[in-house]
Amino acid sequence: MGYGYMGQLLWVDLSSGTVEKEELKETLTDKFLGGKGWGAKLLWDRLPPGTDPFDENNLLMFLSGPLTGTLAPSMRGCVVTKSPLTGIFADSYFGGSLAPEIKYAGYDGIVIKGKAPEPVYLLVEGERVELRPAKHLWGLDTFKTSWTLKQEIGEEKDPKIACIGPAGENLVRFALISCEYNRHAGRCGCGAVMGSKNLKAIAVIGERGIQVKDKAAFIEAVNRARHELRASPYIEAFQIDGTPGSIPFADAEGLLPVFNYRQGTFSGSRKIDNEAQRERLWLKDTACFSCPVACSKVGVIRRGKHRGTIVDVVEYESAAMMGANLGLDNLEEVAYLVYLCDALGLDSMSTGGVLGYFLETVERGLGPAGSNQWGFGKPEGIEELIKQIAYRSSEIGDILAEGVKRAAEAIGQGSGKWAVHVKGLETPAWGPRGAPGMGLAYMTGDRGGCHQRAFPILYEVGGERWRGRKFSRLEIEGKAELVVYLQNYLAGLDTLVKCDFAAYGITADTYASLVRAATGKDITAADLELIGERIWNLTRLFNCREGIEREQDSLPARFQEEPLPDGPAAGHFLPPEDCDKMLDEYYQLRGWDARGRPFASTLERLGLP
Ligand code: SF4
Repeated sequence: MGYGYMGQLLWVDLSSGTVEKEELKETLTDKFLGGKGWGAKLLWDRLPPGTDPFDENNLLMFLSGPLTGTLAPSMRGCVVTKSPLTGIFADSYFGGSLAPEIKYAGYDGIVIKGKAPEPVYLLVEGERVELRPAKHLWGLDTFKTSWTLKQEIGEEKDPKIACIGPAGENLVRFALISCEYNRHAGRCGCGAVMGSKNLKAIAVIGERGIQVKDKAAFIEAVNRARHELRASPYIEAFQIDGTPGSIPFADAEGLLPVFNYRQGTFSGSRKIDNEAQRERLWLKDTACFSCPVACSKVGVIRRGKHRGTIVDVVEYESAAMMGANLGLDNLEEVAYLVYLCDALGLDSMSTGGVLGYFLETVERGLGPAGSNQWGFGKPEGIEELIKQIAYRSSEIGDILAEGVKRAAEAIGQGSGKWAVHVKGLETPAWGPRGAPGMGLAYMTGDRGGCHQRAFPILYEVGGERWRGRKFSRLEIEGKAELVVYLQNYLAGLDTLVKCDFAAYGITADTYASLVRAATGKDITAADLELIGERIWNLTRLFNCREGIEREQDSLPARFQEEPLPDGPAAGHFLPPEDCDKMLDEYYQLRGWDARGRPFASTLERLGLP
């Protein structure tokens, strides 16, 4: 066991029912530090090219980082796999306390391969690793599964649970993995990969501690990180308002997705924002393991037909995608629909994207016969559709369960024009027509359209400066350089498996100090950025091997062809020539050829593959 690390990965083969412990090699920790990098490297080395994501050979990895489970604030876990939604690299991050528990059980990660002949769950209790029958859990929602397993294993042991709901069992391509009730590995369909392996849940119990190399330096770095969190206005905003505090900003700037991204502002935004949620839903703050930010809230629906339902904060992304994007401004209905997605095991972001597409299809008169019960702003029809998707219980539910890209291909009639995704991943709740850097970040995101790999809106709209430089909102100049920097920087931090929100407060120097003190590795902030660049190129290599090149680094027609009708950026869109120009510059800065493949010299500089 090394410092910061537990020194081994637990490999579980569900086909043979065998378990192996594999040493966590120094080549992995030195070159990639933690979860994102390890996952990328293991997919590159061990997954045969072209493997179907539902093939039993696909790997499903629950990974940590060198600071996970320590006193370092706001560290989390990640799931890495090949996505059934996009067919490329997928990493999805989860909070709560599961990832620390994996380390306390003695492992830096759990790697699942194979497929169980019948539904099982995996129990990891330190050295004891068992596959147990899970037929009695199959069909249960995520909340009931977690609760039942905790009772069955023994509440006094306090097992930490990750599980799937009916959506994962039914291979809905945007199914999530629920971790400890209200934290999720939500994006890219990781839950469907788990379902394809007949793995209903993972339960982990651990009792070991984590050694750090230099205790005094580590405590000092932890205190500095906590001080930085306290001093940051962004963190203060997350503490008070959670992520829904972004709704007024996005609405005022015309960045909200509204009526399937047709608009950027929403007349009902104040009814679903942070103030409305505080007044009508929230009861108290909650936090992930060792997180002083506590951005999360627990609440209860107090009015209407869903009265009494305990709900989580309706996060910005969920409120925007399931509220504004579907024309819903009834907070109680939105909170309930997001709760329903969580219970059934659906990613509410992708669900909002898929439903927005379908409701527009119906509005244009291109839906199936009897479609008139469905429409923007009609919660009952939307609730019914969510169930039909999770259970694939109707023809249309079955089509939509495939994700918006495949659904548009199946429905046809030119509907691909309003299917909003990048590489098959439904885009997040930040319309990019008034923020070209955000558009480039979507085009080049390593898991598809994603705002967490780079969020240039902070600079192009929010007024932040980068290296003293101010950016003009609607210009494309300089955006490629900004996006490259942000992607490298954030990949370097993602591999530590940090929380995105805490990273608004903690500086790269402090993250590097934490890693140095915990592991004894001589890491600087510049090294973190270089490691991030290495990982970014490795995920690109993997994606290129799976067939990605320039053609797929593109935006949906809605953003390239249709001017935004409202907000401060009204009239703007991102025409193909602007996208091409940014992409050319981006490839050049990255050291990739004109088709978006890394040059040999770039790989050599980064020590890849
Ligand atoms: S900031 Fe919020 S999401 Fe991040 S670790 Fe803390 S409580 Fe969890």
